[in-house]
Amino acid sequence: MSSSHLSKFALLNPLWLFFKSATRSFTDRRISLWIALVGLVVAVLVTLVWLAGRYEASQYQAELDRDTADAVSDIRGAFSRHVLTLQSIQSKTLSIPSWHTEMSILLGHNREWLRIEKRDLQGVIVHFSDSPLREPVFNVSSRAQEQAEIIQTCSRARRVNGAAYSRSYFVPQSNGLGLEMMDLCLPIIEQGKVTGFTLLTYGLQDILAAQLGATYGQRNELSFIEPDGTRLAIYGSLPRVKRLFTATQLLDLPGSTLVLRMDGRRIVPDLFPSVLPALVTAMSIALVSVLVLLVKDSRRRLKAEFDLADALAFRKAMEDSLVTGLRARDLHGRITYVNPAFCQMVGFNADQLLGKSAPMPYWPSEMVGEYQQRQAVRLAGNAPPREGFESVFVHQDGSRFPVLIFEAPLINVQGKQTGWMSAFLDISEQRRVEELSRASQERLQATARLATMGEMASLLSHELNQPLAAISSYATGSLNLIRQRQQGQGMSHVGDLQMALERISEQAGRAGKVINSVHDFVRRRDQDREIVDVRTIIDAVMPLVQLQAQKLRVRVETKLDDRLAHVFCDRTMVEQVLLNLARNGMQAMDHPQCVLRVLSLHVKRAASNLSHDWIEFAVIDRGTGISDQVATQLFTPFFTTKAEGMGLGLSLCRTVVEQHGGHLEFAPYAPQGTLFRFTLPTAPEA
Ligand code: ADP
Repeated sequence: MSSSHLSKFALLNPLWLFFKSATRSFTDRRISLWIALVGLVVAVLVTLVWLAGRYEASQYQAELDRDTADAVSDIRGAFSRHVLTLQSIQSKTLSIPSWHTEMSILLGHNREWLRIEKRDLQGVIVHFSDSPLREPVFNVSSRAQEQAEIIQTCSRARRVNGAAYSRSYFVPQSNGLGLEMMDLCLPIIEQGKVTGFTLLTYGLQDILAAQLGATYGQRNELSFIEPDGTRLAIYGSLPRVKRLFTATQLLDLPGSTLVLRMDGRRIVPDLFPSVLPALVTAMSIALVSVLVLLVKDSRRRLKAEFDLADALAFRKAMEDSLVTGLRARDLHGRITYVNPAFCQMVGFNADQLLGKSAPMPYWPSEMVGEYQQRQAVRLAGNAPPREGFESVFVHQDGSRFPVLIFEAPLINVQGKQTGWMSAFLDISEQRRVEELSRASQERLQATARLATMGEMASLLSHELNQPLAAISSYATGSLNLIRQRQQGQGMSHVGDLQMALERISEQAGRAGKVINSVHDFVRRRDQDREIVDVRTIIDAVMPLVQLQAQKLRVRVETKLDDRLAHVFCDRTMVEQVLLNLARNGMQAMDHPQCVLRVLSLHVKRAASNLSHDWIEFAVIDRGTGISDQVATQLFTPFFTTKAEGMGLGLSLCRTVVEQHGGHLEFAPYAPQGTLFRFTLPTAPEA
């Protein structure tokens, strides 16, 4: 539907405007609902992703905290084992060389051990052994710097009668680097008395490597830090990333406190930290895609709805502006739809009609039976005539009016019949016009007959002269005979008198016949059709034709087919047609002794759907013929070339013939003259 098309009826149709504005506000509301829904879904998805990320991060953190606590306990366990190992060696009485051997083996097995010293009660080194796994880490001076710290540690060990640890300290190395170290001092007790100390020096970095490296070093950076955060020793290194998990755990030793810090190698990227959030994100993307598809689908649907609404509004406007009444019935004969034109026609509103079944309120009461039967035939599935049928309805105010009904099966989209659709035309006006035209036609025909009668009257006087003269002379003769009888001149004239009287009666009968034929013809009769023998028509019209023929001295020939069927016609009118054509033909012949031929023959039907044949009448004259100029106006009423003519003859002839379903035409007749031909349907055989 084009937009101009739409706007045209939109102006006229308030319903359409209302619908349009309602649709617009509904559309606006729907759009805001969609926006809210999309916003909500996005918010839920973002929250989900964030929560998933947070949950995973907390999982990592907890794991790292556990690892750090485990690592600290591992270190504690190792230190306890070291103390036990050293105590077991102290319990043995060893010669100096075997002490060295023993210590070398231990130093070789524990790479975090840098050096073992045996010191006396004053803290002076008795002998010592360096780790065979590396260069000695102390020289004389560097060792002397720690002397005070060592003495303090050992005195604490003596006090607690067990292992004590020093604070960590840094010892620069010959390669320019340095090592962070820590000492363990273990008193040597012989017979309940402290006789000296065993001092074990740990490398802090080596503790991390030896005790934790294998278990935790792969995924984490391990370090000892001071409480203020300063790093003392590091094992393993991590790429600097934005987010790192960190856990710290206190390693509380007698005399010293260290903090173990573990930096998690698990990287948490900003957007997709891990599988769970990634999964949630993927599902979110899928959800958003579905949402987008839904939005698209909904837009398509909205457009379809809008188009449908347009089409409906257009259909409604169309139905409302129709002057033809429309009515739909279901298969049980109940009314399912009526348009405003139908309601106006019968004077009931749609609510009063919908759902109604036979007898309908607009049926004339005396025809209910007939209409019900007609409806039953229709509902039984019989197709109505295509050309429609006439019926009579009653308006609510009681007035009756004729309608022309066209009915057709109502077929739905599945091709199934769901009822009947009917269209109604109020034909009252048409009937009124037809009645008017019929009345005026009849008046015209009466006028034409009267005109013919005038003509006939003059002919009649001429024709009656003859019998009247004969009657008069026979009467005179008869009177003479009677007078002779009275004068006694014999009885021999009785036979003559009888003969004269018979002649008088004969001539009077002839005159009466002439008058009757004219009277018959002129007498106005209602149009009424009957089955007539063609011969009867010709016989009836011939005396009148002859009347004129005698005056004009024309010879009339008639020729009729042997096997002529009857015709179904208004006899008077057909006689007048023949009389008009014969009279025109005779008047066209200006020289005497011409022949007028009246022919009639049976013509077989041409179209197969016709139920009858045709009878053709032809009137042929040898007159002047019809010029082209006259031919164009021949059938125009009041067209005449004759001084005394009315110009109605041929136009009436054509109307009469066509009213009978026939056809009137003319053609030049060789070598001279005109042929007028018309057809009439044969009577039904029954
Ligand atoms: P009218 O006879 O009163 O003139 P018609 O309608 O019968 O009226 O004829 C109209 C005219 O057609 C005639 O005046 C005449 O000129 C012409 N016409 C009719 N029939 C013939 C014919 N057979 N031959 C020649 N002219 C004819």
